Amino acid sequence: MEEKKTKFMDQAINDEILEKLSLKNRYAFLNTNLMTVLEPKHFNFLKSAEKFCTRYERKNDITHATDEEFYHWIPDFGKEGLISRAHAYSEIDLNFEDHGLATELMRCLALSFFDPQFGMAGGATILAINPVFYHHENVPIRLEILKKFVTGETPGAILITEPERGSDAVHQLTTLKEESDGSYVLSGEKIYNTNAPKSRYVVAYATAEENNGNMMAQVIIDTEWDGWKCDRVFIPWVPKVWLGHEYFTNLRVPKEYILGPVGKGREHMFEGLVPERIGISLDAISQAWNALAHCSIYSNNRKQFNQEILKFQGVGFSLTDLWARVMNVTQGLLRFCEKYDATEEKFGGEIPKNISQAMVAAASQFKYHTTALSKEVCYECANLMGGAGLSDNTLMHDLLNISRIQEIIGGSRQIQLYILSMAMRQLYKMTGI
Ligand SMILES: Cc1cc2nc3c(=O)[nH]c(=O)nc-3n(C[C@H](O)[C@H](O)[C@H](O)COP(=O)(O)OP(=O)(O)OC[C@H]3O[C@@H](n4cnc5c(N)ncnc54)[C@H](O)[C@@H]3O)c2cc1C
Repeated sequence: MEEKKTKFMDQAINDEILEKLSLKNRYAFLNTNLMTVLEPKHFNFLKSAEKFCTRYERKNDITHATDEEFYHWIPDFGKEGLISRAHAYSEIDLNFEDHGLATELMRCLALSFFDPQFGMAGGATILAINPVFYHHENVPIRLEILKKFVTGETPGAILITEPERGSDAVHQLTTLKEESDGSYVLSGEKIYNTNAPKSRYVVAYATAEENNGNMMAQVIIDTEWDGWKCDRVFIPWVPKVWLGHEYFTNLRVPKEYILGPVGKGREHMFEGLVPERIGISLDAISQAWNALAHCSIYSNNRKQFNQEILKFQGVGFSLTDLWARVMNVTQGLLRFCEKYDATEEKFGGEIPKNISQAMVAAASQFKYHTTALSKEVCYECANLMGGAGLSDNTLMHDLLNISRIQEIIGGSRQIQLYILSMAMRQLYKMTGI
């Protein structure tokens, strides 16, 4: 048998089953599930992204060990066009033919199967890409930064959360002062910002008056400027992802780096929430499929009482219940993505504000539902695999931890339900009852 390079403390799973849990085989499980569901163009994109990841893992002896560094992989994924496929990016001469939200779902599935933490870090770069994409206004430096993000020259980060302002993101304490030349000078602190310590550029929010959401602005920061300091916040559930705690001390932001001037920041922040929440949903459902693939392969091979454990109702019925739910939600998410893509195409690449507004509830529903489902599926699949699912021999421990984090980022579970309560009130009023 070919020597397995996966690094772990001790091999707990036998050679035969460990070999069967390979990335290639888990992709085969996924593809067999999705081949009748996907449009050929999406299925072909998925298979080509999977091919790249499988080869990349093999060629570079990637082990997925808990102490493996991955930020230096980003340029290779950038060259392959696997950082973001939300748009064609013709303004920076990339012209991706396969693009849109459904293609993004395929990209997320491929990357998240390959390495869930790497997939999550990539999601944070996309949060920095979106505002630069929508507000570059052909300013050369903004286009240059957009290209660096999309081609993987640098990861990106979004800086919303502050030590004293988490869920209450519109009442910020990071302030800005406008100078006579139109530049802003920022003072304050941000925290928990995925990728920030590794990013050359980040997108940040500040306000001209503390606690006043109407006075917010959105800017790009070059992390090589004076006045920027960033420490690492360590999150043990995602030990390979670098999060930042940033301090701005009279940090000067030149005019051309201001994406949204004072008064526009809040609008820009809310505009980013639909794609952000859907992006988290794509990751969450990808993690659930990865857990199902592990558990299905394992339970079809692991024997106890002289039988494959899948054949015991306690295992088989539990696993197939999770499988049915993940498949149904995937079909719903895919339908949302395809409809979103069709709407964007109809309106020449940009979804009108009123339609985007109407998608806020759907985005919260998917974010709430997929993250809760993924948390349950990842935990239950690990449980159904017994000791093997809890050991460091597979990616199950990563999936278990990440799936719990997804419920907090991008607005916690409670905040999604709060948004939905308000949306339901609005909907009730619209019915005229
Ligand atoms: C791994 C990770 C990555 C992250 N990445 C980023 C990033 O890239 N950029 C960024 O800006 N931020 C990021 N965050 C921050 C994240 O968005 C916040 O942690 C989150 O919004 C919650 O804020 P908080 O931690 O301050 O909790 P708090 O807002 O203090 O909430 C504490 C608890 O109170 C509940 N709560 C608060 N208000 C209400 C309410 N009105 N109704 C009901 N319950 C409520 C919350 O649901 C939660 O359970 C990240 C966080 C983590 C853990």
